[in-house]
Amino acid sequence: MAKIGINIATGSLQQAEMIVGIDLGTTNSLVAIIHPETKKPLALKEHNSSCLVPSVVHFDSFGNATVGEEAKKYLETDPANTIFSAKRLMGKSYNDIKQNASFFTYKVIDNDDEKLVKVQVGKQFFSPIDLSSFILKELKARAEHILKTPVTKAVITVPAYFNDAQRQATRDAGKLAGLDVMRIVNEPTAAALAYGLGLDKESEKTIAVYDLGGGTFDISILKITNGIFEVLSTNGDTYLGGDDFDRTIVEYWMNEFGITNDELHQNKELSQGLRLRAEEAKKHLSFNDIFSVEFNGDNLSISKNKFEELIQPLIAKTLDCCNNALKDAKLDVSEIETVVMVGGSTRVPLVKKFVSELFNQPVHDEVNPDEVVALGAAIQADILAGNNKEFLLLDITPLSLGIETMGGLMDVLIARNSKIPTKVGRQYTTQKDGQGSMRISVYQGERDLVKDNRKLAEFNLTGIPGMPAGLPKVEVSFLINADGILVVKAKELRSEVEQSIEVRPQYGLTDEEVEKMLLESITHAKDDIAIRALVEAKTEGEQILEMTEKFLTKNSSIINKDELIATAQAMQNLQLALTMNDKNLIQTKIEELNEITRPFAERAMDAAVSGALKGKTI
Ligand code: AMP
Repeated sequence: MAKIGINIATGSLQQAEMIVGIDLGTTNSLVAIIHPETKKPLALKEHNSSCLVPSVVHFDSFGNATVGEEAKKYLETDPANTIFSAKRLMGKSYNDIKQNASFFTYKVIDNDDEKLVKVQVGKQFFSPIDLSSFILKELKARAEHILKTPVTKAVITVPAYFNDAQRQATRDAGKLAGLDVMRIVNEPTAAALAYGLGLDKESEKTIAVYDLGGGTFDISILKITNGIFEVLSTNGDTYLGGDDFDRTIVEYWMNEFGITNDELHQNKELSQGLRLRAEEAKKHLSFNDIFSVEFNGDNLSISKNKFEELIQPLIAKTLDCCNNALKDAKLDVSEIETVVMVGGSTRVPLVKKFVSELFNQPVHDEVNPDEVVALGAAIQADILAGNNKEFLLLDITPLSLGIETMGGLMDVLIARNSKIPTKVGRQYTTQKDGQGSMRISVYQGERDLVKDNRKLAEFNLTGIPGMPAGLPKVEVSFLINADGILVVKAKELRSEVEQSIEVRPQYGLTDEEVEKMLLESITHAKDDIAIRALVEAKTEGEQILEMTEKFLTKNSSIINKDELIATAQAMQNLQLALTMNDKNLIQTKIEELNEITRPFAERAMDAAVSGALKGKTI
């Protein structure tokens, strides 16, 4: 049943349920939607508060959880019961995180190196999935409060380097929070979408997404082809971010006032005070030349120049990562056409300056770097909801994808359960002499005949130069990116005539529909095999008739009268057999015709004709 919602701008009722975009971050998380009126992406926030929800969960002595700003307050006062950076534990075993164990101020269970980690709070144990689900639940509740409508569907972003286990863990966290996770999207892909990259189907672009947050740094090189995002390489440092900038300032002040490490560790109030002032200073220096504040009777100050000198080595580290990512993608820096900035720490002017110098171009920083990933997720959600008809989004993994070949047969290019992203190409040829165009019809499903499957799109490859049947080489390629967008391209390789699909978008299938299609394919498997065999025999018969006729016209001089009469008779027999739905009869008649024509075919082997006889045709 459709849910009824309320339009946030007008208060009017709206029918369709919204799919929200969620950036589930290491430090902060947020929800965004496409505004139903303006059609623009919008980060959700309550009046007078930030849209950022700190990704922190605090448990009180009764085991009750609070999330966000409230929980963050306990980071210093109740570290054992305050869980931050749960995202770093997603899909990890203790072995994976052993090296950085000291980073976590709460108890990470270490009695089994191989098993997935759990966090202990009092007598309770939580998996990173549980912890992420608390954050997602909070985001869901906030979104519902602001939108005044139930929110049950979401697109959630993850780092491009997340493996299958980590993606699945994120999906599970969503499910636990009561969300139907429509898609997991790469964070750099979402950021690119927020800048409108990849929305123009024609464009081909290579871009870099530089993401410097509070605690992590990621660089991703993406190639966007016809709306398909391909991750060429990723690099980064999972323990480098704005927090390290703050730390350099704290150390600078400690030096200045002769505060030792021991003193700092023993005096929580001092350490937290300095850390908070340092972050304040850093933010202030993004827009001013000097920072100064009274603290415990002393004057804490720092100039922008000094700050830049302190953080220079940290930024240099990120640039090394960028160079490594370029090397892995086998690209020269000059081949990067666009650079997108993500993460709060890219507000630091020196970061922008260095990155722009490295890539030799101005960087994109127009969209709020804290919101850009969530906004992109909202755009993706909107595409999934079918509101953006420019895109075809498929749940491709559960069903095979292919094209229609002669006789209405399904030729599968990407088998069901294939991993995405993927690119598959196959060559086809023409059926008739001088055939100038070829229809490419794309289907999804498991049945042998396309009529029993689901048509997704269709287009014509036109402008194929006149050639004998069987000579043109048409390569049909299927491209599916991690987000499930499909682009079909056809190219005649001799003439280089090329066309990509005019997609007529349709929605992905529901689980029930997929199940039904699979069940049908099993029930009809026997019939399908028989029908396929018949269609193949008919196609072969028709082709042989056509080829024989052509052969006779071309080579009449080398064939005697008796041979001609025998051939004509055999052709007639085959023609008749084709009108009956009897595969065996057709095959017998094909054999008989072949017997008669074989001797003179051998006499005058024509490369083009034999090639065509062998070729596959659409
Ligand atoms: P994120 O993980 O993307 O939410 O980024 C948070 C980081 O961005 C924190 O380290 C913040 O201190 C930092 N940040 C936020 N605003 C600014 C600013 N105006 N200048 C410098 N850093 C900032």
